[in-house]
Amino acid sequence: MDTFLNACRSVIGATHVLTSAEDTAPYLTDWRRRYTGKACAVLKPADTQELAALVRLCNEHKVPMVPQGGNTGLVLGGIPDDSGKAVVLSLTRLNSIRHTDPVNNTITVEAGCILKNIQTAASDAGRLFPLSLAAEGSCTIGGNLSTNAGGTAVLRYGNTRELCLGLEVVTPQGDIWNGLRGLRKDNTGYDLRDLYIGAEGTLGLITAAVLKLFPQPKAQLTALAALRTPDDALRLLSLTQSYCVSSLTGFELMSGFCIKLVNQHFPSMRLPFAEEHAQYVLLELSDNESEEHAQAMLEHVISAALQQDLIQDAIVARSIAQSQAIWDFREHIPLAQAAEGKNIKHDVSIPISHIGDFIRTTDALLQQSFPGARMVTFGHLGDGNLHYNVAHPEQETDKSFLQKQTTVNRVVHDSVHQHGGSISAEHGIGALKRTEILRYKSDVEMQLMRSIKQALDPLNLMNPGKLL
Ligand SMILES: Cc1cc2nc3c(=O)[nH]c(=O)nc-3n(C[C@H](O)[C@H](O)[C@H](O)COP(=O)(O)OP(=O)(O)OC[C@H]3O[C@@H](n4cnc5c(N)ncnc54)[C@H](O)[C@@H]3O)c2cc1C
Repeated sequence: MDTFLNACRSVIGATHVLTSAEDTAPYLTDWRRRYTGKACAVLKPADTQELAALVRLCNEHKVPMVPQGGNTGLVLGGIPDDSGKAVVLSLTRLNSIRHTDPVNNTITVEAGCILKNIQTAASDAGRLFPLSLAAEGSCTIGGNLSTNAGGTAVLRYGNTRELCLGLEVVTPQGDIWNGLRGLRKDNTGYDLRDLYIGAEGTLGLITAAVLKLFPQPKAQLTALAALRTPDDALRLLSLTQSYCVSSLTGFELMSGFCIKLVNQHFPSMRLPFAEEHAQYVLLELSDNESEEHAQAMLEHVISAALQQDLIQDAIVARSIAQSQAIWDFREHIPLAQAAEGKNIKHDVSIPISHIGDFIRTTDALLQQSFPGARMVTFGHLGDGNLHYNVAHPEQETDKSFLQKQTTVNRVVHDSVHQHGGSISAEHGIGALKRTEILRYKSDVEMQLMRSIKQALDPLNLMNPGKLL
């Protein structure tokens, strides 16, 4: 091991080869602090060439590699196992914005760029990079691409996959593939780019990407509607889409229980409704004409929804501060949930038309098996993505409830499968769900995935134990 580490030091400099417990600790524990792995070192190369040289050394010495960006992933994909044999390859020093092309509407960035910095660079060029999620101040674009992250604007702009035109990748053998093409049309064979996106670092290391930019909207407007049921929320979605078409950029469902939790744990935060309601929807419009145009569209939708008795009440934000306050409410749900205690989380996606039935059926199944379990249901309804989380019954401790995690997961995931959904909508598989997917993916699909892995990484050195 000493020979290997000394060779690494000669490639990237001793200060970028971290081995002490103190230096490596932040790279070895996951964001939610559920698991701590071990590594023989954390390596922090400065550029693609240094990274490729390290990968060749790992091949020579048969050292497993765990790629890592901002370490905000939620499925233990970027954390090594506890054998201590692997190195963590941290991409955070590859953080340059290489090129912005406002005419081609593209930006070329290195993998370790923090998402927030890419949004700012796009905005400085008079453009929008629409990927946005609560971890945007810490997560990197390499991690976003590798997990095909979703976030709050998928409804209009798609997942990270849809926002990427080209990639630069270091292969598991240490070769560099330059696929940094800023093309919207390129039918010249297998799409290698799409292979690496969402691969969770198991097929190679993404070192740079060409991303799509968009015109900045002239106005962004947020509204909050109170309703009775998720089915009414789906009818509101159809109504809004038919009137606002692609101007609708956000459509988030929050159950009344989520709102109660936020009120309880953040007493200064209040929704501006006189009464409590069973469900709430946050709507966001991004308009390319004007603030007045956006306001008129939103008011039209709300009055039509009131007339059709789809909603019971609604408010439209009158200022950026009011819009921010509504989004803050949405983003405080996970924090309120954590303050309430541990709960069993599911990041699932369901065909949008089946969501109402999914929630009704699965809530009932859980109540049968775990009477009193409290449902913390919220999420990106417009994308068919629910954070369908289950908190312990009031009379039970979260510790004893967590012991039932496998059974709770089984009830929820089986129901997701029966409704034609996916057990991981946007967080990925990582180490956390790799046995769970075996139950829901066909043998043919698993075998195809294993064949790809075997062809590209025959020594199984690239993020072993993750995804497959
Ligand atoms: C508060 C919070 C909110 C979140 N909200 C959302 C959300 O709304 N939508 C959503 O989709 N996700 C969300 N996430 C999870 C999301 O997956 C991550 O935040 C983000 O996409 C991961 O980026 P990262 O740089 O932190 O990657 P890491 O956590 O470092 O890594 C994630 C995975 O990608 C691999 N990887 C990282 N960089 C590279 C690279 N350059 N090349 C190859 N593989 C690589 C790792 O090995 C690992 O498997 C949230 C997380 C938090 C903590």
